[in-house]
Amino acid sequence: MKILQIDHLGIAVSTLEEGKKFWCDALGLKLEGTETVEEQKVTTAFCPVGESEVEMLVSTSPDGPIAKFIEKNGGKGGFQHVAFRVENIEEALAELKQKGVKLIDETPRLGAAGCKIAFLHPKSTGGVLVEISERP
Ligand code: ZN
Repeated sequence: MKILQIDHLGIAVSTLEEGKKFWCDALGLKLEGTETVEEQKVTTAFCPVGESEVEMLVSTSPDGPIAKFIEKNGGKGGFQHVAFRVENIEEALAELKQKGVKLIDETPRLGAAGCKIAFLHPKSTGGVLVEISERP
């Protein structure tokens, strides 16, 4: 498996306006676009940082994973996941599985920007939700 770089940090925010106050206004990151991934009930807002990105995640539905995360987090947003860009996601998943890492997604699904993504189970990662991603 070849990890190329940290692709993005996923930050749950209750609203985009709320998230922008810190990440854009205070930190000065530039919001370069948004995309809604209906399947994951999330709108992602991308702020490039060098070769990586901060991705603000806003739930599109009260039963979506980001809404549930915020609920569990006492009604507040926060750091939700880290994504690593890999050269070949199928190969990476096969290797991780073989090493005994518990996978949330056994096969890749479609993420924002046409990426193939898969999540690893926090039980196998020391409590961090880890995403691996292959860019088209
Ligand atoms: Zn992500």
